[in-house]
Amino acid sequence: MFASSYNSLLVLFSLLVAILASYTALDMAGHISSAQGRAARWWLAGGACAMGTGIWSMHFIGMLAFSLPIPLGYDPAITVLSLLIAIASSAFALWLVARNELPWSRLVCGAVLMGAGVSAMHYTGMAAMRMAPGIEYVPSLFILSVVIAIVASGTALWIAYNLRRLSVRVRLLRGGAAVVMGFAIVGMHYTGMTAAQFPLGSVCRAARDGGDAGWLAIVIIIVTLAVLAIALIISVLDLRLESRTAILAVSLAEANQELTYLALHDNLTKLPNRVLLEDRLDRAIQSANRENSQFALMFMDLDGFKTVNDAYGHLIGDLLLVEVAQRIGLNVRSQDTIARVGGDEFVLLAGIAEPADAATLADKVLRVILEPFHVADRLLRISTSIGIAIYPDDGARQDDLMTNADAAMYHAKALGRNTYCFFEASMNANVHEQLQLVQDLRLALERHELILQYQPKFTAPNGPVIGVEALVRWSHPTRGLIAPDQFIPLAEKTGLIVPIGEWVLDEACRQISEWREAGRRDWTMAVNLSALQFGHASLIQTVRDALKRYALEPGCLTLEVTESTAMRDADTSLRILQQLRGMGVNISIDDFGTGYSSLLYLKRLPASELKIDRGFIRDLARDSEDAAIVSAIVALGQTLNLNIVAEGVETAAQQEFLTRLGCDSLQGFLLGRPMSAEHLIETLSQENVLNDAT
Ligand code: C2E
Ligand code: CA
Ligand code: CA
Repeated sequence: MFASSYNSLLVLFSLLVAILASYTALDMAGHISSAQGRAARWWLAGGACAMGTGIWSMHFIGMLAFSLPIPLGYDPAITVLSLLIAIASSAFALWLVARNELPWSRLVCGAVLMGAGVSAMHYTGMAAMRMAPGIEYVPSLFILSVVIAIVASGTALWIAYNLRRLSVRVRLLRGGAAVVMGFAIVGMHYTGMTAAQFPLGSVCRAARDGGDAGWLAIVIIIVTLAVLAIALIISVLDLRLESRTAILAVSLAEANQELTYLALHDNLTKLPNRVLLEDRLDRAIQSANRENSQFALMFMDLDGFKTVNDAYGHLIGDLLLVEVAQRIGLNVRSQDTIARVGGDEFVLLAGIAEPADAATLADKVLRVILEPFHVADRLLRISTSIGIAIYPDDGARQDDLMTNADAAMYHAKALGRNTYCFFEASMNANVHEQLQLVQDLRLALERHELILQYQPKFTAPNGPVIGVEALVRWSHPTRGLIAPDQFIPLAEKTGLIVPIGEWVLDEACRQISEWREAGRRDWTMAVNLSALQFGHASLIQTVRDALKRYALEPGCLTLEVTESTAMRDADTSLRILQQLRGMGVNISIDDFGTGYSSLLYLKRLPASELKIDRGFIRDLARDSEDAAIVSAIVALGQTLNLNIVAEGVETAAQQEFLTRLGCDSLQGFLLGRPMSAEHLIETLSQENVLNDAT
C-alpha cells in the first residue's frame, strides 16, 4: 500500500469550512421556518446551495490536503456529481427541519437519508480520482464512516430543528452547534479517508487525463467561501429587516392607538368630539333607561367668539377655545362629558337628579365663562348661550335631544345671550317655521316680493340730504312686511343672499340713476353687503355690470361693509376693497366700533366713510363711556380723513351732541325713516329739505 500524508494547514482549513457551512445551514434553517410561501422556497433553495457547496467544499479541501507518492487528479464530471449529491441532501435536510413537527421516527429516517447522502457524496468524490486498480476500503472503517455520517446528520437535524424558533442567545447556541457539526462532518471525512487503501503501483487516471487540478482547487475554495459569506450576509441583513419589521409593527400599533384617539377627540382642545359624544350619549340613554334616571344635554355656543377670531386672528381664537374648554372641564364632574362639536360649540352631558340641577350647572358654566380670559397677553371677555334638553322628557332619541338642545340654545341667544334656556315644545315650531321661511325665500325673488326702502343721510345737523341707504324688505304674502334682520341671516346661511344681493344692487342702481336724472345729481346710493356677498367671487363683476347697465358714475355708489366683515380675512378683504375702490366705488365701514379694528389696519383700508354703530348713539346722553368712544372715533376719522356718519339718531339731543362732537353726517328716525322711493321724495319736498334741482 502507498503511504499517504496530509497537509495539516489544509486539514485545519477544511475544518473551518465545515464549521462555517454548518453555521450557515443552521441559520438558513431558521429563516425557512419563519418565512412563508415563495420566500420560504427561496430560502430553502439558497440554503441548500450554500450548505451543499460548503460540505462538498470541505470534502474537496480535505482531498487536496491528502497526498500520495503519485500525482493525483479529479474527474470533473464525477466531482460535479458529488457536488449535486451534497446539495440534494442539504435540501432534503433543510426541508425536514422546517416542518412543524419532527417526531423521532422522521428524525431517524432523515438522519439515515442525510447520512447516506453525505457518504454518497464522499465516496463519489473519491471515485473522481479514478484510481487503477480501484481503492480498497477497510470494511470496518468504511461502516464507521457511514455511521458517523448518520449520527452527525441526526444530531445536526435535531439541533437545527430545535434552534430554529429560539430567539434568545440563538447566535451563541448556533455557533456551538456549528462547531459540533463541523467536527462530525470532518470526522466522517477523515474516517472515510483512513478506510481507503491505495495498493502500490496504483495510478490516478484522473491525474493522467486531466492534469493538475491545483488552480481549480483554489477557485473552488474562493467560490465556496464567497457563497457562504454571501449567504451569511443575506441572512444577517434579513434578520435586521425582520427586527426592523418588528419595530415597525410596534410603531404601527402605537400609530393606530393614536389614530383611534384622534378619531374620537378634538385636535385642538383634546375634548371628546362628536363621534365620542354620540357613543357616550348612547350609553347615557341606556343607563338612564336601566336605572330609571334622567340626564341633561346642554348645547353651548360662545357669544362673540367670531368677533374675537376676526379681530385677533385664528391663533388667538384657538387659544381662547382651549382655555374655555379647560375652564368648563374644571367645573364639571369627572363622570360628565364635555365635548366640542363645532367651531365654538360645546356639548355637556351630565347626570342629574332633577331639572333644577341642570339649571345650577348651567349657571355655573355661564359664570366661569364670563370671567375674563388671559390669552397671549390680552384680556378677552366672552359669554356663552346654553340650551338644555332633559332625557327622557325632551326626546327619546339622540337626534331629538341634540336638535332640541340646539333649538333651546337659539332661544337663549335670542333672549340676549349669556343665559341658558330649557327646551320647550314651542321652540320646535320655530324650527319648522324657519324651514318654511327658507322655502318661501327661495321663491321671493321670482315672485317680486322683495322691495327696497331708502333712508336718507343728512349733512349734520339737519341737511341737506347727501344720499340714501337702500334697505331691503320682504313683503311676504301672508306674514306682511318682514325686516331684513329676520331673513338676511337665513339668506346668508343658505347662500340665497347672493342672488338677493344682486337684485338689491341692481334695483338701487336703477333708482339712483332715476333720481340723478330727475336732478338730484349729488346724491349717493349706499348698498349693504353681507359677509358672504363680500367674499363671493362674482362681486366685482356684479358691481361693474350694474353700474354699466344704468350708465352710472361709480362715485355715486357706496358699498357698506361691516367692520367685522372687513376684518375677517384682512388680506383678502383689503384686496377686494382696493379693487372696488380702484373702480371708483366708495367704501363705508358699517357698525364701526363693535369690532376690534386695529388702527394700523384701518389706515390701510381704502374706505371713505365710517358709520358709528347705533349702539353707541343710543345711550349717548347717559353713558359717558359711549360719548368718549364716539369722540374718539370722530377724532380718528378726522385724522384718517374719513367722512363720519352717526346712525340711529332718534333725538334732538343726540343730533346736537353728535354735531358738536364733529360728526359729518347723521342718519336716523329723527331725520328720516326708511321709506319707499315715492314716499321719500314726497316727505323731503314737504319738509322743504330737498334742494330742488332746476
Ligand atoms: P344697518 O346697515 O346698520 O342698517 C341700519 C338699520 O338701522 C336699518 O334697519 C334701519 O331701519 C335702522 N335704523 C335707522 N335709523 C334708526 C334709528 O333712528 N333708530 C333705530 N333703532 N334704528 C334705525 P333694517 O332696515 O332693519 O336693517 C337691518 C340690517 O339689515 C342692516 O343694518 C343691514 O345690516 C341689513 N340689511 C338691510 N338691507 C340689506 C341689504 O339689502 N343687503 C344686506 N346684505 N343687508 C341688508
Ligand atoms: Ca348699513
Ligand atoms: Ca349700521
